[in-house]
Amino acid sequence: MKGQRSREGVFQVLNWLVSIVLAGFLIGFGGLVIGDLPKVSSPVTVEQFMPAGRQAELEQVKQRVETERAGLLPRLEAAGEKRDRATETYTSAREAFDNWVKTRTATGDGAQDTELLSRTRELDRLKSLQDVARAEHDAASDALTALGTQEAAADKALAGLKTAAEPAYKQARFLQDLKVFLLRLALTLPLLGISAWMLMRRPRGDYWPFKRGFILFSAFAFFVELVPYLPDYGGYVRFGVGILLTIVIGHFLIRSARAYLAKREADEQKAEPERVQAINYDEALKKIGARTCPGCDRGLPTMEGTQLDYCVHCGLHLFNHCSACKTRKFAFFRYCMSCGSLASPEGQAG
Ligand SMILES: [Zn+2]
Ligand SMILES: [Zn+2]
Repeated sequence: MKGQRSREGVFQVLNWLVSIVLAGFLIGFGGLVIGDLPKVSSPVTVEQFMPAGRQAELEQVKQRVETERAGLLPRLEAAGEKRDRATETYTSAREAFDNWVKTRTATGDGAQDTELLSRTRELDRLKSLQDVARAEHDAASDALTALGTQEAAADKALAGLKTAAEPAYKQARFLQDLKVFLLRLALTLPLLGISAWMLMRRPRGDYWPFKRGFILFSAFAFFVELVPYLPDYGGYVRFGVGILLTIVIGHFLIRSARAYLAKREADEQKAEPERVQAINYDEALKKIGARTCPGCDRGLPTMEGTQLDYCVHCGLHLFNHCSACKTRKFAFFRYCMSCGSLASPEGQAG
């Protein structure tokens, strides 16, 4: 008994392995198929909904500004250095001249008029050099400011184009998302349908491990390949699908619960031998071990001083006596635990 049970356990583990391995390969295969889907349609960008000519024009302006700025910056820097040097030269020459004039006034030397003239001329020359350098720097600086203004205008115009294109772009994006989703739905829905059909069919049959693998695969496909691609659209689609799924699943749960209760009731109406026939031997042993009735699944009460022979809920004959040695035994035992004689169908049933 023990060996048989553990071998059954091994078979169960192996069956699960078959299911999981099959599901793994199916997931890989399905991933390849579904991975090719987005290539069916090219991605949508907001630029597609902006007037192409105007946009290119503005982009060109921006590019020209960038090029010109790159050329202008070293010029500005050089002009700045040149201006600073010229200012420095002029300032020191000016200081020297002022000192010279002071000494001249103090000594009152009239013979220095020619030198005064030449020194003044030199100072004027340095001053004009400084002015030129300053003008050059200012020009470069102004040009840079003008470039900045042009760029800002181009940016603003581009932003305007983008804003104008936004509604059309959003709609196209939504349609695109919807298309991808519907494609995925068209691939996933049949899988889910087949799985639901497999789940509801009884008995499950010898190929149940394969079917279970397929069901695992379709569940994976649903949650990983479909749910994340639900178009959002302000949550309407997402919540709508959630509501729909809950209703569908709830509907099947309620129906199967009702079917179970109806079946139990029908079973209880059947003649005893037929009921016993319908109960699985291993299940019956398991259930009586857990003190539940194998016929109606309800708990069996413990009564002090009385032996329970029949289910108090459904009347199923639970314990009888061996036809050979009269030992009281569980009615589902195939052999008497006391004398080992085969329990006759009569003995089993009553
Ligand atoms: Zn019962
Ligand atoms: Zn016996």
